[in-house]
Amino acid sequence: CYLHAFASSILRTYDMPCEVKARFLLLYGSQRGQAQAIAEELAEQAAEHGLVADVFCLSKKEKYNLEKETAPVVFVVSTTGDGDPPDTATAFVRKIKKRTLPRDYFSHLHYAVLALGDTNYANFCNCGKTIDNRLQELGATHFYSTGYADDGVGLELVVEPWIEGVWGAIKKAIAEMATPGQQDSVSTSTLYNTDHNTASKENTEASGLDLSLGSLALKDQAPAPTLELPVSTSEVETRAPELEAEPAILEASLARSLPPLSESALNVPALPPPFLNVSLEDASAQELIGPVLQGHHQEVSISRAVQLTRDDAVKTAIMIELDISGKDIPYQPGDSFDILCPNNSAEVQELLQRLNLEMQSHHCVQLELRKDTTKKAAQLPPYVPVGCTLLYLLTWCLEIRSVPKKAFLRALVDSTEASLDKRRLQELCSKQGSADYNRFIRDANVCLLDLLRAFPSCNPPLSLLVEHLPRLQPRPYSAASSNQRHPGKVHFVFNIVEFPACPGRLVARRGVCTGWLAQLVSPILQAYGSTQGPVAMLGTGPLPKIHMGLRPGNSFRLPSDSSLPVVMVGPGTGVAPFIGFLQQREKERETNPDGCFGETWLFFGCRHKDRDFLFREELERFAGSGTLTHLRVCFSRDAAEGTEAPSSPRYVQHGLLLHAKEVTSALLKDGGCLYVCGDAKNMAKDVNDTLIDMITEETRVDKLQAMKTLASLREEKRYLQDIWG
Ligand code: NAP
Repeated sequence: CYLHAFASSILRTYDMPCEVKARFLLLYGSQRGQAQAIAEELAEQAAEHGLVADVFCLSKKEKYNLEKETAPVVFVVSTTGDGDPPDTATAFVRKIKKRTLPRDYFSHLHYAVLALGDTNYANFCNCGKTIDNRLQELGATHFYSTGYADDGVGLELVVEPWIEGVWGAIKKAIAEMATPGQQDSVSTSTLYNTDHNTASKENTEASGLDLSLGSLALKDQAPAPTLELPVSTSEVETRAPELEAEPAILEASLARSLPPLSESALNVPALPPPFLNVSLEDASAQELIGPVLQGHHQEVSISRAVQLTRDDAVKTAIMIELDISGKDIPYQPGDSFDILCPNNSAEVQELLQRLNLEMQSHHCVQLELRKDTTKKAAQLPPYVPVGCTLLYLLTWCLEIRSVPKKAFLRALVDSTEASLDKRRLQELCSKQGSADYNRFIRDANVCLLDLLRAFPSCNPPLSLLVEHLPRLQPRPYSAASSNQRHPGKVHFVFNIVEFPACPGRLVARRGVCTGWLAQLVSPILQAYGSTQGPVAMLGTGPLPKIHMGLRPGNSFRLPSDSSLPVVMVGPGTGVAPFIGFLQQREKERETNPDGCFGETWLFFGCRHKDRDFLFREELERFAGSGTLTHLRVCFSRDAAEGTEAPSSPRYVQHGLLLHAKEVTSALLKDGGCLYVCGDAKNMAKDVNDTLIDMITEETRVDKLQAMKTLASLREEKRYLQDIWG
């Protein structure tokens, strides 16, 4: 009777009684944690709307049953690679794509999709679109329109309004699904009952977590006294009233509270941190260790490092050789691998200091659930190893440089004492503050530390950091070598990423991984010189070590038929995989001098012929020996500064245009393969546009037809991209 009354009440007003909450299913497919974070945020907000979400990763197929689902379903899914589903959604997508499924397979299902993507890459939001289309093909119906959020301009621009609108739609869908015949099933399956609480308590107790105390706490290994994290005790700064409001505020406030740019702020320790393989039980040594190796990651030595650019080049490019002999790392040219990197140690120390946790840096982090928490269960994220120290957590697990999302700013408000700071943080995460958020936080690449410097009265507990900072991701690099040419070795190339100071972030800094790598190899570079020649690491000290693992599922490979033409486009460090391709081709030509080898084109671009022509000697050697039949190099700044002939192409796409006839013919008549590697934001888009123009012109078709031709080359895996933003 009560349930019947409830169903009537939601039919009438869509308002839920607060004691009994209506349930929906929330499934996410995440690669880097963004979709997961949004799903968790949705689940948290659900309570405010009288709803409760059963939230699961799509990979946990034993936890949900779409075939029998009677509640509305919300999908939050990202897209990765060349429009691929994230790893956690691959099996789900494969399953729903099965051709044997009947047309009405999901006719009972009411769902909504929030698709995440990046317009800098091909096949924007492809995974979300695939799931959406397929569910409809199988009879499912939308209860709310699909959101397509673009990480290229800021996910929140779509995510926030989408979330705002979804609550009404979910309630309406629940009401509509609660037709008289279904009311019983709604009452048992869409109404939240206390089983969830029981289950989460059981799980929590089974995993040894203490439910009785508040917040995340740190524990010494043995004995294990629990230390509550300190609530802010720092002095509340009284701020000048003129610092309130208007766009310049944060700038001004950041400017006032950031330390002046000093040598010490930029200084990185002279020596790379030692790496010790120690067991996790040995808490005292944990601050010294590298990352806990997961799955396919392995520790390897750096055996060589070469600076490829002159000191006066715009960017500094470094090539590193890793010794992988005796390791099971069967890479091929075109493959990429992940490098595990730590956060900058000076920043970690500053964060510890600022959070007043310096003294606890060697304590083990242990989870405890706040008594008042509305969450079903608090768990340390799976990438935080059990028993890790606080120092380890901040060094290897959390992306402390990530740009704080609005949800994080919102959460920081409660940990901020000064009312002006509070108000400014509130503004920044409000709808009206979107422009300021974009300008001062997102575009300025502000990180948590910048915020803590700017808002001295903000003292968040550690639990907020664990909840809101994403996982410190491994960084991908393309192999710049062939293991046939360099047995037991793999090379990779990177530019040291420099972030100059700007409003909102007054301290200049380097990229997390490239800054660390540069520091690691600087003794080698200093001892053995730089520029173009190979420099052997002959010193007596131990070779620096890093942790790496091959990225699975690569299709960026030379064609198996070596007689087919190959067109490679790779400006800057985008040339990396092509060095591997050419080394392999050179070796094949040596071992099979009578073999049939197709034409090879390389369009390379750099700024100045004399400063940043990466791999110049090697490329000229390939061209001299015929391994590379066409080497076309564009010098963008030489061309602009008039040191090149006025007709010289500035960018790789201009070089392509000069050879439009031959390149189009190689691709469309001779079955060749086209590879583009490098910057995703501008170069890859411009090259794509140029290819469309070339095909339009050379094959005398309209633009739409040319786009279709290019799309089919992509389908046939004859137009491959390895592009990064
Ligand atoms: P870059 O900054 O892309 O510059 C290389 C050349 O490209 C410069 O001459 C630059 O000219 C020119 N350029 C600028 N805008 C262009 C446009 N719209 N179209 C064509 N060319 C343009 O080189 P980089 O710093 O080495 O960056 C390469 C990119 O490749 C990075 O995004 C990196 O993440 C990515 N990547 C690296 C690897 C690797 O293994 N290291 C692998 C794959 C991808 P101006 O500056 O004079 O305008």
